[in-house]
Amino acid sequence: MAATRYPGAVWRPVRNWRGSMIQPTRGLIPHVQQGNGSLYGWFNNSSSQVSSHLWVSRSGLVEQYVELDRRAWAQADGNPYWISVETEGYAHEDYTPIQVQRLGEIFAWGMGEFGWRGEITDSVQGFGIGTHRMGGAAWGGHSCPGDIRANRRRDVLTTALALRGEGGSAQAQLRYQHMPVLRFGDRRPEVVELQNALNIIFGHEAPTGDPWRLVPDGVFGEATRARVGSLQRLNSPWYPPITVDGVVGRETWLKIGHILTGMNRWV
Ligand SMILES: [Zn+2]
Repeated sequence: MAATRYPGAVWRPVRNWRGSMIQPTRGLIPHVQQGNGSLYGWFNNSSSQVSSHLWVSRSGLVEQYVELDRRAWAQADGNPYWISVETEGYAHEDYTPIQVQRLGEIFAWGMGEFGWRGEITDSVQGFGIGTHRMGGAAWGGHSCPGDIRANRRRDVLTTALALRGEGGSAQAQLRYQHMPVLRFGDRRPEVVELQNALNIIFGHEAPTGDPWRLVPDGVFGEATRARVGSLQRLNSPWYPPITVDGVVGRETWLKIGHILTGMNRWV
């Protein structure tokens, strides 16, 4: 018997589900929440008529709402075949780095538990990591999860393969190796990813009430430069200091990737 609960999730059962999954499941459908905050209340409300198996918050918390052998109400005709995971945030926003990591962990676990294939698919007849929108009208006619998050599936898969030792640890660092050099004064979307990563590494990802949290606004200002310096100086047996120049080049991205990967291992 395959597991019905994901071990990395907080179990919060809801009433919106019906029937059994068709086994084996084909893979994972990440959805975009189009909002923030736990979906437990909405999915436990019988008038909402929606639910998902799992939810991943922007700060990396995972909740599970429906047993994995039961059908959640996430993608209409696709419900019996795919495990669904809602992701906090909006379609016009990228995942936070830790959301990519968590999705990779979930998928890696599913590969071992359910035999999911390490693939990306855009077909309802396919396997691996799909999208809600690939189901067209039969799945409710949604554009979910939008281009930004749909295009992150390769990163999620790369993370999963690395966790399973099938891509080599270097693979997990790939997306950081290809990030652009960022410096003081830059305004670009990659700065948001940097700011989110720094908040996670230094424990400041709570969205409100933390004066040390970097606002992920995509502007590389004084506070971001100072935090980059802290990261570069950071010295532990696993993460030695690197050149302290406040510029985020390949060496700094690698240190970020190394820390995020190491601190979030699910085994
Ligand atoms: Zn969706």
